[in-house]
Amino acid sequence: MRSFKMKNYYEILNIAKNASEKEIKEAYKKLAIKYHPDKSKAPNAEQKFKEVSEAFDVLGNPKKRKHYDQFGTTKQGPVANGDPFDIFRSIFGGSNPFSGRKQVSRGPNINIESLEIDFFEAYTGTKKTITYKRPQKCPTCKASGVKPGAKKEICTHCGGKGVQIQSQGFFTLQQPCRVCSGVGHKFKKEDLCSGCSGAKVKKVETEIEVDIPPGVFDSAVIRIAGKGGDSLNSGPPGDLFIKIKIKGNPLLERVGLDVYSEVPLSVSEAIEGSKKEILTLDRTIKQIEISAGTQPTSTLLLKGAGFPDVRGGAKGNHIVKFLIEIPAVADPSILRNLRQFEKQNSTKKRRDYAILLNEYSSNA
Ligand SMILES: [Zn+2]
Ligand SMILES: [Zn+2]
Repeated sequence: MRSFKMKNYYEILNIAKNASEKEIKEAYKKLAIKYHPDKSKAPNAEQKFKEVSEAFDVLGNPKKRKHYDQFGTTKQGPVANGDPFDIFRSIFGGSNPFSGRKQVSRGPNINIESLEIDFFEAYTGTKKTITYKRPQKCPTCKASGVKPGAKKEICTHCGGKGVQIQSQGFFTLQQPCRVCSGVGHKFKKEDLCSGCSGAKVKKVETEIEVDIPPGVFDSAVIRIAGKGGDSLNSGPPGDLFIKIKIKGNPLLERVGLDVYSEVPLSVSEAIEGSKKEILTLDRTIKQIEISAGTQPTSTLLLKGAGFPDVRGGAKGNHIVKFLIEIPAVADPSILRNLRQFEKQNSTKKRRDYAILLNEYSSNA
């Protein structure tokens, strides 16, 4: 057996039991606007809206109200059966009570996947002029999508409600009508604007200068506010996002804010020391001094000669590494001399290594 606990419709509408028809209507209007799912952000708004509609469906009808007052129920059963949105429309007329503060939505954002700049432009910063297709309100129809004087046809799919109600068990789901996209009406094909075919927007080739800051990183995304697509209502336009792609350089490697050079040295240059040239970030050649006895692990630091930090703060460094090239020697007399030389000039590192390793072999 199922039992229904009757809802107190007077409590739901927050009115007295002897409320007049006018008071009932006013109470409903107030609450229906408060909980209309198009407007209310309350998590239970839809449920509240339904309850309020149900209460008004019964109390707003003198016959149903009388029956409810007498028996605590209505003739049709415990629950009123009107569609809450139909009830809403019947009271407010076809007009949308929220039209004065229609929901405004931002225009779409636009992403430009790759704007390529030179390695050195990332150091100096640069300006680039780009063109892209920006959706703008159609100038022909001023974003109405139709020719002047076009007549609206009620959408037959949703009967002009703009919504589709789907029942799933005990639940009813409300979704925007897929035929008219929720507006409740449509236009004849021949009435659509010739400029935009009814889309209300047109993609217009747009030129813009992009300011790229010194120190920009590869894959950084630059945002230009308000340069995305136009909003279809009175909302602000979206933003433009541009992803920066930095070309590589064969002589320089960037790591964070630092830049690395690798200078090849012959064995004699490393032994004697030498003068060498490197490419720097300001695109000039700079002479550096290689000290005598330079090792493969040696580096030379040019402090502050790296990339600037886009957020401010200290610049990175330019670090020079050395690639000491061991020549292939085929001449037996040269090799003999080299071995002789190495024997007489045993280095500390090689001596220490032999001593350390020896400790382990004697303990074994
Ligand atoms: Zn429709
Ligand atoms: Zn148009």
